[in-house]
Amino acid sequence: MTDRAVAAETTPLEERLIELIKLKGPMTVADYMADALGHPHDGYYMSEQAIGAEGDFTTAPEISQVFGELIGLWLVEAWRGMGSPEAFNLIELGPGRGVLMADMLRAARLRPDFTKAAQVWLLETSGRLRHEQQKRLRASDVKPLWADEFADIPPAPSLIIANEFFDCLPIRQFQRIKNGWRERLVGLDPDGAKLDFVKGRTPPPAEYQLPDIAESEEGEIFEVSFAARDFTTDICRLLAEQKGHALIADYGHMASGLGDTLQAVRAHQYWPPLASPGHADITAHVDFEALARVAIDNGAVAHGPVSQGRFLDRLGLSIRVELLCKGKALTKADEIRAGAARIAAPNQMGEIFKVLCLSSPSLPAPAGFEDL
Ligand code: SAH
Repeated sequence: MTDRAVAAETTPLEERLIELIKLKGPMTVADYMADALGHPHDGYYMSEQAIGAEGDFTTAPEISQVFGELIGLWLVEAWRGMGSPEAFNLIELGPGRGVLMADMLRAARLRPDFTKAAQVWLLETSGRLRHEQQKRLRASDVKPLWADEFADIPPAPSLIIANEFFDCLPIRQFQRIKNGWRERLVGLDPDGAKLDFVKGRTPPPAEYQLPDIAESEEGEIFEVSFAARDFTTDICRLLAEQKGHALIADYGHMASGLGDTLQAVRAHQYWPPLASPGHADITAHVDFEALARVAIDNGAVAHGPVSQGRFLDRLGLSIRVELLCKGKALTKADEIRAGAARIAAPNQMGEIFKVLCLSSPSLPAPAGFEDL
């Protein structure tokens, strides 16, 4: 935790967005999210120390090294299941501070031919985080390459990892009115002084396939992430042509449904999503059912989702934890066990976080998904 001051302040990005809205009218929640997180100068991931105990939020690999180690061993198994290709892409989407990749590579070292065959690709928009990733991976046996866009990565057999990446992809929101749907937009409050939610004037196009109005109540919200769908389409087109798997871990729901899941976090506390854009992390729950449907439509297979706790248990979490604790001082061993409990216990991250695996149709289900 951190004790840095967290009073809401008007940010340069907010001032710019207010001017833009005065000029052009309200913007979609997706455009707002994209700017708040990814604006080249004032976006949150570009300018803030976001991740880790000193930052605003923490993630499973930052909490426990066991997360990355188990996934590293999973990757080696998955690679063997692909026929141990002599050259393949090991791609991470949104690698944050590079901790997960470093832990995965350390565990995978037990099969040097895996490491030798891997071309590590990191898809990262933030220059600041790229720099951290570079520093952290300097000591590893691989020479990573960075990509701005998924399409920039040359096609090859691929293993893809995305932890807490899909939750920061922009979503659009639609609100049920009396007899239909209207887009929920970011506009201005009545004084024109602050950002506020407003309703769109025209009904959204039918192709958005919003839920039947008979199955929803007035005021309810339905979310769609076109960005997440586009990423999934690109991934699955690759998996339909080249052997591989994509492991997606995130918080979200198994089945598509109604509900407002847009949330912001600052200094490990919830924060109003429209306050101080650029200074807080903004995310939304991942709709795993929507991703699985896109996968099937694009020639891939979807395994799961399974809860993160169950997935990690199936990969041997408790054995790995006890191995790590062996010979350690009691306080250190307690710390290791507490970290593992945090990422896997149902009342912590074990249940709300899910793991989905998208795979080439020719491959058997990978470890952890065999009988799902
Ligand atoms: N996977 C890491 C970090 C999660 S934070 C972890 O588990 O700790 C989200 C990451 O995705 C950050 O590195 C952020 O800069 C990156 N990111 C967000 N949107 C992106 C996009 N559209 N393309 C590439 N990277 C993106």
